[in-house]
Amino acid sequence: MKNNPSNLLIDISEIPEEGLKLDLIKSPSFFEIEEANFKITKPISIHCNITKVDDEIYLRGTISSTIEIKCSRCLQSLTLSVDPKFEITYLPLTLMPCDEEVELEKDDMDISYYSNNIVDIIFPLRDQIVLSIPIKPLCTPDCAGLCPVCGQNLNIKMCSCYKSEDIDPRLSILKELKFQE
Ligand SMILES: [Zn+2]
Ligand SMILES: [Zn+2]
Repeated sequence: MKNNPSNLLIDISEIPEEGLKLDLIKSPSFFEIEEANFKITKPISIHCNITKVDDEIYLRGTISSTIEIKCSRCLQSLTLSVDPKFEITYLPLTLMPCDEEVELEKDDMDISYYSNNIVDIIFPLRDQIVLSIPIKPLCTPDCAGLCPVCGQNLNIKMCSCYKSEDIDPRLSILKELKFQE
């Protein structure tokens, strides 16, 4: 197989001694990331270098794009840039440990495996994107969220669901500030 880096499948026998540099832009659909909670809104740019030492392959670089995701408190859409750096080591599949525990430990070190002399860099890069998405994204660090009773976005305006006696302490501070004004 001739190297066809645009498919992100690399024939290791064709990696030159000085390494192989990849600078590519892929459409979000190429990675087939199907996550309900975010959308990739910009082409994904990949800059990386692949080097080979004996039968170990090293992949280093950055991948960057922009995603649209909902604030975890108020559900407004927000745009985030993601640009994780990665360092992945590929070992021949024959070296893959059978023991599950060993495998888990190795996961921490970003180790992947290859077979038939072909290194597939699609899956590790897809993981990098997914792992870089925050679990609880916030539109602003102090987003007030939605009223659990009426659903009013409390960043925009207060609602009248709370009587003064059972008011949330955070809201009562706001009320005091209003009185001072
Ligand atoms: Zn928010
Ligand atoms: Zn309310």
